[in-house]
Amino acid sequence: MTQHIAFIGLGNMGSPMAKNLLKKGYQVTVYDLNKEAIAALKTAGAETAGQATEAVKNADVVISMLPNGAIVKSLYTGKDGLISHLKDNVLVIDSSTIAADDARYVAKACEMKGIAMVDAPVSGGVAAAQAGTLTFICGGDPKHFDQAKPILEAMGKNIFHAGASGAGQVAKICNNMLLAIHMIGTAEALNMGVQQGLDPTVMSEIMKASSGNNWSLQVYNPYPGVMPNVPASHGYQGGFMVSLMSKDLGLSQELAAKSQSATPMGALATQLYQIHQASGSANKDFSSILEMLKND
Ligand code: NAD
Repeated sequence: MTQHIAFIGLGNMGSPMAKNLLKKGYQVTVYDLNKEAIAALKTAGAETAGQATEAVKNADVVISMLPNGAIVKSLYTGKDGLISHLKDNVLVIDSSTIAADDARYVAKACEMKGIAMVDAPVSGGVAAAQAGTLTFICGGDPKHFDQAKPILEAMGKNIFHAGASGAGQVAKICNNMLLAIHMIGTAEALNMGVQQGLDPTVMSEIMKASSGNNWSLQVYNPYPGVMPNVPASHGYQGGFMVSLMSKDLGLSQELAAKSQSATPMGALATQLYQIHQASGSANKDFSSILEMLKND
């Protein structure tokens, strides 16, 4: 029997993820605060709901893709939260990037109602969400992970089980701290080369074939005009917003303090993204950190 999936949160990531579930034949009911996002999914074949509680009414699986932990906690466990509206034996998959403690809090609340939950944050960005090639990094009971896996395979290519509840979020935050650090480093190197009169495309090709090669250079070049299909070549619109990267870096520093881990580069990256956000770039893609370094 076709599984009925409720999908909550149709932003830059959630929208293409829900479309991929539809393409794979799942029956999907969507909800977002943004009515235009709901309308776009209706055109793609989804059923729509006027409230999150209505979207989950007949769901076998609930997937959420939301901006932060406060919203995720409020959605599931707040006043009239979803937990009290779910059928028995529902599987909850939260793919938002949130604090591991928030993921564990929601998982515990689910468990007390006999509901299974897996934290399954993603890596790969909007292009991977569209192509169905995301990496899912999961935390939770192995048998719940096994239940989630075939659904996640409809939206992603690499599906990892990092460990118990919250472990997906820990691994994701470690990854994003590294992403911020190498994006800033890539932007610094490109900017310095250009200031010295070099062509950013030539510079990028050289570094990709050299020891500075990294993901930002390969698929997400921050210099406008080097790659056609990245936010840098479209006014830094779409993609992964500076406000979301700042949030993730904040989470990385909470984890660092909690585990007494030294993260000096992560701390500096956190400060740089906070300055960039405060100077009016909150809604731009995170590769726009290059604009902060330019002296023109
Ligand atoms: P987004 O801001 O584009 O989308 C979030 C969506 O959630 C919006 O459409 C918003 O209207 C909706 N929303 C907010 N509160 C809601 C509520 N209470 N009920 C229903 N809908 C609500 O964000 P995004 O880029 O899609 O990111 C979503 C999550 O994925 C974040 O946690 C982010 O950190 C993570 N993430 C993003 C990327 C990326 O490249 N954009 C990559 C990996 C992970």
